[in-house]
Amino acid sequence: MGKIKNIILWLFFTDKCTYCGKLLSCGETLCENCKDNLPRIVGERCKFCGVAKERCKCNKHRMRYDGVTAPFYYEGSVADGIARLKFGGKDYMAYYFAKDMAQSVKDNFSNVNFDCITFVPVAGLQKRHRDYNQSELLSAELGKVLHLPVKNVMVKLYDNNIQHEASQNRRKGNVLGVYDVKDNANVKGKTILLVDDIKTTGATLNECAKILKIRGAEKVYCVTAAMTGKKVAKSLDN
Ligand SMILES: [Zn+2]
Ligand SMILES: [Zn+2]
Repeated sequence: MGKIKNIILWLFFTDKCTYCGKLLSCGETLCENCKDNLPRIVGERCKFCGVAKERCKCNKHRMRYDGVTAPFYYEGSVADGIARLKFGGKDYMAYYFAKDMAQSVKDNFSNVNFDCITFVPVAGLQKRHRDYNQSELLSAELGKVLHLPVKNVMVKLYDNNIQHEASQNRRKGNVLGVYDVKDNANVKGKTILLVDDIKTTGATLNECAKILKIRGAEKVYCVTAAMTGKKVAKSLDN
């Protein structure tokens, strides 16, 4: 019985909602519910943390990056979509998120001329386990939409092999955190768009921006698919 039902579903509903995975009729990419309820970040934004001003809790806390933006809050169907991007091996998710991320970059960093895109790296073991870095996938799609080159310039220093790769830089510089730049020549004097999937506290982006600037980057702006931003309690008048 279940088998027949699945075959019928397969025949008539061959596409799934990008965000929640619900079965759809052929050719559709978003279900009605997700279409109406995507948690977009709207309204005037805090230029320090990137969320709408009414949700900002950052007290204008300065980070090492020059700006951060995202199209969505990390909630509801977008959180589902990111989970599918991360663990489901769903490459096409990157394509959908990248379109909205590109728009967010155009809207919020309209006066910035980027030299290249780069992404938050994962350590070797992590990457092998999952087979890909979701931030790298997002970057590749974003590069196509924004017509910018994507450069793999950073490393996450977890295992010894990768540490060895960056050892020349490390010898020159300070004692650094878990991230480093492979070759300073790739970032020197550059205005960089740094990509990750989610921003929560901003600590990872901050750490990466710090290293990129120590290694000579001129400016670092960040874009993620989604960021956290606490909902504000509605007043009693509705
Ligand atoms: Zn949906
Ligand atoms: Zn803020």
